[in-house]
Amino acid sequence: MTTHATRMLIIGSGPAGLSAAIYGARAGMQPIVVQGLQPGGQLTITTDVENYPGFRDVIQGPWLMQEMQAQAEHVGTRMMWDTIVDVDLANGSPFRATGDSGDEYVGDVLVIATGAQAKWLGVPGEQELSGKGVSACATCDGFFYRGKKVAVIGGGNTAVEEALYLTNHSDDVTLIHRRDELRSEKILQDRLFANEKITPLWNKSVDAFVAGENGTLAYLALRDTVTGELSRLEVDGAFVAIGHAPSTELFKGKLETDAGGYLVVEPGTPKTAIPGVFACGDVMDQTYRQAVTAAGTGCMAALDAERFLAAREFAGTKAGVHA
Ligand code: FAD
Ligand code: NAP
Repeated sequence: MTTHATRMLIIGSGPAGLSAAIYGARAGMQPIVVQGLQPGGQLTITTDVENYPGFRDVIQGPWLMQEMQAQAEHVGTRMMWDTIVDVDLANGSPFRATGDSGDEYVGDVLVIATGAQAKWLGVPGEQELSGKGVSACATCDGFFYRGKKVAVIGGGNTAVEEALYLTNHSDDVTLIHRRDELRSEKILQDRLFANEKITPLWNKSVDAFVAGENGTLAYLALRDTVTGELSRLEVDGAFVAIGHAPSTELFKGKLETDAGGYLVVEPGTPKTAIPGVFACGDVMDQTYRQAVTAAGTGCMAALDAERFLAAREFAGTKAGVHA
């Protein structure tokens, strides 16, 4: 076991964690970023990003995250290939975290940027057929359905983007939504409705994912959310895109979460109830959940972390003078 000590320990390598690292490194806090199972975060599972400021042309999510990481490393961040499995916040600063590798991480301040993970419907067949026709990532798995019939479940930005992306591989994409109105941005809706390869299926929920004789997905058992009528949709692939849940399992019983499971912070700041522990990005933001807002709150976390350490060091100096 190795112990890695730093002034600023950051858990998570999405836009929030890497922005905190860029600011933290430039402030001399020599950050360590523990990357987790999804280095670069959620943008690494998408393609086109058109709303991150600074780029006139469409950029690719994985490319943007590689650039952010390179910038963070360039100014002095250490990236660690590890996943935090336990944190000790009970004794105040310095905070201790244990990695899956067995290594220990110690930080004078802790920045939590663990983001969010895809939600599942929780209906029969979903987990059993995961990887056998059921997926939560079109950009990862869409290629396997080239020329086949696919469905996307959901009505937000992710679902619409997944459906549009899948038209690169399939001419027969059905978007299944439980209401008759999409939640996604208008510009994406306009593209969806203009695309002849996509058929919206309104007011339908998925009761089950059903396998055929070969053990892979054969059809979706659907229920009309208005009339209750049951029906089937035969598909080769189904992509669940019903939103994301914050990754807060690690902090259960250690930090307060709200009804949606998001970490609670002092309004308008990234400060948790424990001095020196900050939360930024999707893990504390139920409302906006964008790359640019995650980066913004990551910046705020680093600035507040710097102030926390400066105030503590100033208090320590004064105590020394009077001793
Ligand atoms: P995330 O990006 O979720 O990163 C979380 C990080 O925490 C990951 O690196 C993960 O490995 C790490 N982690 C989690 N648990 C642990 C642990 N225990 N130990 C160590 N590390 C851990 N937003 C836009 O602005 N524009 C878009 O075009 C856009 N497109 C999107 C497309 C898709 C398909 C999705 C899913 C989201 C999209 N978003 C988009 C939303 C955007 O990706 C998120 O708002 C943003 O990534 C949140 O950043 P984050 O840093 O808070 O968390
Ligand atoms: P979301 O906005 O929360 O939308 C989830 C969708 O899934 C909603 O339409 C919801 O239906 C539906 N849904 C939820 N639970 C369901 C269930 N059990 N059964 C059936 N349908 C269900 O999630 P998201 O689309 O993943 O987006 C998350 C965040 O990332 C948002 O802030 C979004 O703006 C951002 N994002 C941005 C971009 C972009 O800027 N281009 C791209 C992707 C994501 P209802 O509508 O009925 O609630």
